[in-house]
Amino acid sequence: MADEFKVPFIDLQMRYEEEREEILACVDRVLSKGHLVLTEEVFEFEQKVCDYTGAKHCISLNSGTDALMIGMWAMGIGRDDEVITPPVSFVASTGSIAHIGATPVYADVLDDQTIDPAEIEKKITPRTRAIMPVHWVGRIADMDPIMDIARRHNLLVIEDAAQAMAAYYKGRHGGTFAHCAAVSAHPLKNLNAIGDGGFLLTDDDEIARKAKLYRTHGLESRDNCVMFGVNSRLDVVSAEVLKFRLDRLKGVVEARRRNANVYRSIIKPGPVFIPEEKAHEQVSYVMFIAQCDDRDRLQKYLVDHGVQTLVYYGTALHLHKAAEKYGYKRGDFPVAERQCDRVLALPHMQYLSEDQCAYAADLVNKFYGV
Ligand SMILES: *Cc1c(COP(=O)(O)O)cnc(C)c1O
Repeated sequence: MADEFKVPFIDLQMRYEEEREEILACVDRVLSKGHLVLTEEVFEFEQKVCDYTGAKHCISLNSGTDALMIGMWAMGIGRDDEVITPPVSFVASTGSIAHIGATPVYADVLDDQTIDPAEIEKKITPRTRAIMPVHWVGRIADMDPIMDIARRHNLLVIEDAAQAMAAYYKGRHGGTFAHCAAVSAHPLKNLNAIGDGGFLLTDDDEIARKAKLYRTHGLESRDNCVMFGVNSRLDVVSAEVLKFRLDRLKGVVEARRRNANVYRSIIKPGPVFIPEEKAHEQVSYVMFIAQCDDRDRLQKYLVDHGVQTLVYYGTALHLHKAAEKYGYKRGDFPVAERQCDRVLALPHMQYLSEDQCAYAADLVNKFYGV
């Protein structure tokens, strides 16, 4: 399928071709032992994530979405609480807030698509309980002012760090700034399982204790249920594969950053805006998103020339049908809304050469005649 394009977007088949032997060895190792739930492979993976990120606890789960919900639940967020979050994200950020019974309250974003700390401050009410910044594309939201606001107003913070593996802010790994953080290992993230997966990071012993119980029915032992929980355990085969892939993550992200730099150096500014990478940031580029004039026509032009792109996303979260009940309307978050009309993710995955990205970048300039 990828052969259709000179410059394809998705890397999963290439990944399998490259890793086939090791992945099959992982499957064989796990299945031949005959234990398939919460085994040592899972705990080894969690320890490896702690070593990698610097977090004290890693609780592996079914998905990043579950990590968001279980993190908020473990912090006691629920009905009557408001959680401030940006209108630019995957729907799961808002969905998780709605699903635990709390109310999402949006604050507009900066040029770089992360939540604007000044806008957060304006949205605080007596019901505000928490802030959920989103590290969109693997760029860490501006956590210093966000944590400062949280301290001054006595608020909890959960990072949507779904895309933040191998992303840094002032030398510190994503997902280690707030009370807890949710990471996704979905197939399209930089560290990916062989299906769904995710984990919660926290330094807080009590949040970790509750999340560990909650993911496995609240069972302290086989016949001792101390609270009613859910089943959100990371698959054991995925844990074994994730251990292997965590060792390779740095290389994956380096290749993606190299390709991002090709776009940055070739595409002429003006009709296209590419958020700069500030000196204190290291972006992991789960996607490489440019903000482009006449986006839909550009996308068609690129497809016609063999370059596959994706729109992440064309609709701001407050404008989805599911968000109708919160009473937002078009015009409420002008920065986010304008970005949704302009965003285009260019192909930059690790199996593309610099030449392939340069070909796509030249096409972008050609489209605008610059
Ligand atoms: C992928 C993603 C999620 C959801 O993670 P899943 O593992 O797919 O449940 C949440 N938020 C953001 C920003 C994401 O990119």
